[in-house]
Amino acid sequence: MVSAGIYARISSDPDGTRLGVERQITDCEALASRLGWTVAEQYVDNDISAWSGKDRPEYRRMVDDLKNRGIDAIVVWHPDRLTRHPREFEELIALVEGIGDVRIETVTAGDYDLSTSAGRSVARIVGAIARKDSDDASTRLRRKHAELAAAGKVAGGGPRPFGYTEDRLQVVAEEAAVIREMATRVLAGDSQRSIAVDLNSRGIHTSQGNDWTPSGVKRVLMSTRISGRREYQGEFFDAVWPPIIPPEQSDRLRRKLGSRTPKDRRAPKRYLLTGGLLRCGRCDAPMIARPDVNSRRRYVCDSGPGHAGCGRMSALAEPLEQFIAEAVLYRLDTPEWPPPWSTPGHNRPSWPDSTTRSQTTKGCSMAWPPTTPTVRSAAPNG
Ligand SMILES: [Zn+2]
Repeated sequence: MVSAGIYARISSDPDGTRLGVERQITDCEALASRLGWTVAEQYVDNDISAWSGKDRPEYRRMVDDLKNRGIDAIVVWHPDRLTRHPREFEELIALVEGIGDVRIETVTAGDYDLSTSAGRSVARIVGAIARKDSDDASTRLRRKHAELAAAGKVAGGGPRPFGYTEDRLQVVAEEAAVIREMATRVLAGDSQRSIAVDLNSRGIHTSQGNDWTPSGVKRVLMSTRISGRREYQGEFFDAVWPPIIPPEQSDRLRRKLGSRTPKDRRAPKRYLLTGGLLRCGRCDAPMIARPDVNSRRRYVCDSGPGHAGCGRMSALAEPLEQFIAEAVLYRLDTPEWPPPWSTPGHNRPSWPDSTTRSQTTKGCSMAWPPTTPTVRSAAPNG
C-alpha cells in the first residue's frame, strides 16, 4: 500500500479563508483514493509565496518524512504548488534519486516519474512554465482585480483621481466642471497642449497640485473612471462611483485620443527558452534570443564575442515554442516516452520547413539545467 502525503499551498490568502487550500486538498484526496493510496499526512503552507523565497515549514517537514520513509508518495494539485524555484526542484530531484521509488502525482498535470531522465525533463519544463507564470503578475492577483472590476469597486492606490474625492467615491464639483470643459474642447478639436496651457494660466492644478501637461489632460480624458465605469481587460463594468461625463462621450474621447489604453499589466516575457533551456543541435551551446531582420522573434546560436556557439543555427521562436509546448502536453497526456515521433520514420507534430534556415539547421534540443545537457528526446529534427 502506497502511503502518500498531500501537499497544498496557497500563495496569498489575505482574507484568511483558506478556501484555495481546502479545494486543493479535496481534489488531492479524490486522486489518492482513485489511485488506491492511503493519505498518511497533509502538509499545508498557507499565505506564502514560493517565488518570494520565504521558507515553507510544511514543505520541509514533508521532505523530512520522505527521507524517513514516513511517506513514499506526494500528491499535489498542480506542479506550481510544489516548487517554483528551479534550485528547489533540483533538490527535490536529488532527494528522490537518493531515496528511489518515490511517486509524485498531480491533479492537474499527471504524474512525474522522477526516477527517469525523461520524467525529470518533463517536470523541469513544467516547472519552468510555472516559474514563468510566477514571473508574470500573479494570476490570483489578477483574478482578484477582475472580481473587483466586475463588482465596479475601487481598485488600488495611487494619487487621488482628478474630479473625485480622496476615497474616490464622490465627485468634486469644480474639478468635474473642468473635466467636462476639457472633454467638450477636445471633441471640438482643441489640442491637449492648448488646453494644458490654458488651465495652467487660469491657476487650475492637477489633483497633486501640479501644472497640467498635454499627457496629463489625455490621461484624465482617456480614463473610464470619469464615465462611471471600470474597464478590465477590454470589458466595461458599471462602477460604484458617479459619472462626470456620459459613457457615449467617454467612448468618443477614447476613440479620438487613440485606442491605446493605459495598462497596468506587465508585458509578457517575449522569449521562453533562453537561459540554457534551448541548445544548439550542432555545438550544444545555449541559444540566445535575437530577432531576425523582420523583427520576428528568433533563437540563434551565437559565435560572437562572449558566446561560445558555432553561429550556424537559428530558429523562429513561435513555431519552436509551439512545438515544445506540444511535446510537453503530449508527455503530460501519456505514459509513453519517448514519444513515437522522436524516432525516425514516425510523424511528429508539425514543424514547418519555412521556420528554419534549411542549409544551417539540423535541429535544436531541450536541456535543463544548462550544466547537464542530457535530454535530447524533444529534438525537432525527427
Ligand atoms: Zn551552434
